[in-house]
Amino acid sequence: MKVCFFCSKPIIGKKTLEHIIPDSLLGKLGIKEKILHGQTKTQYSRIKVPAHGTCNSEFGSRYENEILALLESPDSLYESLIQDENAILLQYQPSSDNAALITTWLSKIYYGLFYNDYLKVDSSEWNEVCKEIIDNDNFRLIQQSYEKNHGFSLPSSLFVFKTNNEEFDLVTYALPQAILIKIKSLVFILCIADGYLTKAYLNGEKIKLLKDYLSNELKLNPKFPLHSFAFAEIVALRINIPKTPSFAYSNEFMLNMSTSTSVEDPQSFYKVDEKKIIEDKKDILRNMNIIET
Ligand SMILES: [Zn+2]
Repeated sequence: MKVCFFCSKPIIGKKTLEHIIPDSLLGKLGIKEKILHGQTKTQYSRIKVPAHGTCNSEFGSRYENEILALLESPDSLYESLIQDENAILLQYQPSSDNAALITTWLSKIYYGLFYNDYLKVDSSEWNEVCKEIIDNDNFRLIQQSYEKNHGFSLPSSLFVFKTNNEEFDLVTYALPQAILIKIKSLVFILCIADGYLTKAYLNGEKIKLLKDYLSNELKLNPKFPLHSFAFAEIVALRINIPKTPSFAYSNEFMLNMSTSTSVEDPQSFYKVDEKKIIEDKKDILRNMNIIET
C-alpha cells in the first residue's frame, strides 16, 4: 500500500500525485528536463509522489502559493532572508517567516526527489542511497513536524546568494544532505536537518567574506559559476564539522540541541580542518563538472 509523502499515513481510496516542482513554476521558468544526481535525464514535470488529496492541496495553499509569490520579487526576498542569516534558534516553533517558508519548500523538493527515485528507480545502488534518506528517523520527524504545522522541515542552515544570470539550476547532495536551487537571480542553498551547525560556523564576518569573494570573482569573470562555488564551499564545510545534529520533540515545540555542548573548550574541540575543507571543495566541484582534475 502506498503511503502519503507528507503525513506518512497509508492512502486508502483515491490517491493524488503531488508535483515536486509545481507546474506553474516549470512553465514560467521554461524548465523541461535536466540531468539529476548525475544519473539519468529527468523531466521535472514527471516527478510526482503519492499523497492524500487533502495533504496535497493543503501544502499548495499553505506554502506553495506564498512561495511562488515571494519569488516574484527576488530583491525583497533576498533582503528578508539575509536578516535571518545569523539567527540560530534553540526552540523551533511554527513560523511563517520567509526563511521558514523557503526552508520548507527546499526540503520538500529535496525529499520529494529522493522519494520519487526510491519508488521508481531500479538501480539497486542508487535505491540504497534513496532508502537511507527516506527510510529513517529524520524523515519521519519531518513528516511529524509538517503535521504539527512546523513546516516540512527540521532546523536547517539556509544560505542565499545573488548572481548575474537567471538560468535555472538544481543540485542535490546525498551525504551530507544538501540542496541548491537557483531561481531567477537568487541562489538558495540548504544544509538539510543540520541543526544549524553549518550556520553556526559560517556566520557574521565569515559569510560576508565568502559573499565578497564570490561577487568579486563574478566581477572578474561574468561566467563564473557563483552558485556552484558557493554550494561546494558550504557542503565541504558541512562535511568537516565534527558534530552531529540532535533534536528532541514535544507536542508544542522542537528542541534543537545540535549547537549545545558540554566540552570545556568548544572552540578548539570543534575546530574544522581548513586544508581538508579545500580538498573536499575541489572534489565537489570536480563531481559537479565545474573544474577539471
Ligand atoms: Zn497525507
